[in-house]
Amino acid sequence: MSRANVRVTPDEAESIITWGQVRGPDGRTLLAWVRFEERWSVEELHETAWVELAPAAFVESPQVLNRRASYAFSWACTFCDRLDAEQVDDLELVLEGEPALHFRGQPELRLTSWGELVVSSRLGPLFEEHRLGLRSIAGTRSWLQVELGPVCSILPVHPCEIRSDPCPGCGHSAVARSDVPRRRSPFQEPHIHRIVPWVAQCLSGAAMAGWSRERIGVAGTVAASAVHVAGARVDVGHRTELLGMQGAPVLFARPALVAALARADAFGLDARPVSAPAASGRHLDLRASSGLSR
Ligand SMILES: [Zn+2]
Repeated sequence: MSRANVRVTPDEAESIITWGQVRGPDGRTLLAWVRFEERWSVEELHETAWVELAPAAFVESPQVLNRRASYAFSWACTFCDRLDAEQVDDLELVLEGEPALHFRGQPELRLTSWGELVVSSRLGPLFEEHRLGLRSIAGTRSWLQVELGPVCSILPVHPCEIRSDPCPGCGHSAVARSDVPRRRSPFQEPHIHRIVPWVAQCLSGAAMAGWSRERIGVAGTVAASAVHVAGARVDVGHRTELLGMQGAPVLFARPALVAALARADAFGLDARPVSAPAASGRHLDLRASSGLSR
């Protein structure tokens, strides 16, 4: 087995996959495993209305120590385990090392497992200039949390995969990201990991960043009959497993905010394009028109 890191355009990637799917005399395919990391220039991202921000591969998500205490929880639905969570207090985080006053060389953009955006305090004015609110992080002045609300709705087309029937109470289905093709057997078909842009509809014309209305990876149970009082407070101290079932929204930002962060040398999140729903109902494949670049 040999490994190669190569930089390719989308067209070249397609031909590598086509070539890799050829079987040798021993019945094995030529490529066992391919992972594509797509890098987009700020100019290319300006071609899209929204950009997805996801943690960079080398950046760990900060751990939230006080999620139970920093949110007020209530049942979102009478049938399923979805919670409404309203933040009522500052987050307390474990962030590896306390960053120096100047952040050069440190990832300054962090995303928690619940989609909370945590940024270095150096970047506070930049987010305020883009009309985003800030709240403090407990016990530190080095970091701030950016206040976010829903700005986009993810459409149920690839790579969004619906994994459950709609809940009879709220109508929500469990959704997941499915852009890892199901070609798992390493010696039959190549295992190809390639990010496909979400197809999302804008809910807010004004905000520069925010969440998807959908939470990805919700895993709670759906009862056959009404079991909760919707809107009633939930003491998650007795049901801590509920917190792990809530999934996380996707973080979206306007390309102008991403460009400002790039100019400020802030890093820690990867920016990817988001496809807009086309008028015909089919979505645009942005990769067809944009090349790869750093
Ligand atoms: Zn429900």
